[in-house]
Amino acid sequence: MRSLDQLCCQNSRCLLYGQRGQGNLSVCGRIGKNKTIRQLYCRVCKARFSERKGTPLYNAKLPTEKVVAILDHVREGCGVRQTGRLVGVSKNTANRYIWLAGDHARRLHDEMVALSPSDPGGPIRRKVGLRGQKAKALRSL
Ligand SMILES: [Zn+2]
Repeated sequence: MRSLDQLCCQNSRCLLYGQRGQGNLSVCGRIGKNKTIRQLYCRVCKARFSERKGTPLYNAKLPTEKVVAILDHVREGCGVRQTGRLVGVSKNTANRYIWLAGDHARRLHDEMVALSPSDPGGPIRRKVGLRGQKAKALRSL
């Protein structure tokens, strides 16, 4: 189970939307068939939402193990039809979870890339190609 510091408010109108570790979330209940999914409450915007919101498991009709099995098969290189046959779901169901996981992975990637340091080699390469007045102007900086 993930720590509350790893989760963030999912209300797009909240001041702390998408910001992790702000201390604004608390557990206000349990939801789901076996009451295993935490329902979170944001103190800032007073919104309640599932801890799964924004993930491929949000509102999933399949058991978690089956969704994970679908994504494991795809990760190992199985096609959509093959994955559906091996896991015991239709190819359309497998495809839907693959798309959801892909969208989630893209958003996570964009968030992680935004924290990467800039490329220090970029501006230097441009300076090397300059001659004359522009190069002198840059050297004086
Ligand atoms: Zn909020």
